[in-house]
Amino acid sequence: MMKIKYLKTDSPLRLKFILSNSYFEFANSLRRAMIAEVPVMAIEEVNISANNSALYDEVIALRFGLIPLKTDLKNYNLRSKCKCRKGCPKCTVKLTLDKTGPCTVYSSDLKSSDHKVVPAINDLPVIKLFENQSIKIEAIAELGFGKEHAKWTPCAATYRYYPQINVLKNCLKAVSVCPKKVFEFKNRKLLIKDLDACDLCLACVEACPKDALRVKGDDSKFIFSIESWGQHNPKALVKLGLQALKAKVDEFSKAL
Ligand SMILES: [Zn+2]
Repeated sequence: MMKIKYLKTDSPLRLKFILSNSYFEFANSLRRAMIAEVPVMAIEEVNISANNSALYDEVIALRFGLIPLKTDLKNYNLRSKCKCRKGCPKCTVKLTLDKTGPCTVYSSDLKSSDHKVVPAINDLPVIKLFENQSIKIEAIAELGFGKEHAKWTPCAATYRYYPQINVLKNCLKAVSVCPKKVFEFKNRKLLIKDLDACDLCLACVEACPKDALRVKGDDSKFIFSIESWGQHNPKALVKLGLQALKAKVDEFSKAL
């Protein structure tokens, strides 16, 4: 049976866990589903009614598009699947911004028509305005997928094989060359202090005599690392990735 063991992280937007009794194809499908198949909100249209700043309209529009927006999947449809077809309050969110310099315009300056769909990170600088420069926009956000455009990507997700280390001969050098401080030397013996930290760089194998250490990855056990950009919390992201995978399997099953 598949098992999960959580590892500590330094931020609520990060999730790290060890997945065991699994296999590489599953781990990779999950990773790809999370990156490309989980719907998130992002600005898709920008109407600029005033802009005498140093940046072109297109550049500003792109920058607003890349601001991660908190996503509420319960209350919104994909615009392409909504009955309205042209954008309505069930599939789009309106955001506005009106600023005059001198100032820096931040993501938090965007005012949203829905308090649940707001910039996930408040202090992202978008543009600097000098005196008498101003910018006024009206933007429309909608749900989309990472496979369509990077702005709809909800996270960075990676995994690596869980390390397996066999100490066959004592080798003091392993302690100092390991960049992750995996080893310790106690009672004249080389011991493994922190196996989870090993990223299979093999620096210890290279530094020690031949056959002193055997290091390889376990192909049924993975260390997953997910960093959300703030649209969804990371645990919800994993569940949404799994849902996306399941939907594909169901579709295939139906086609059969
Ligand atoms: Zn609609």
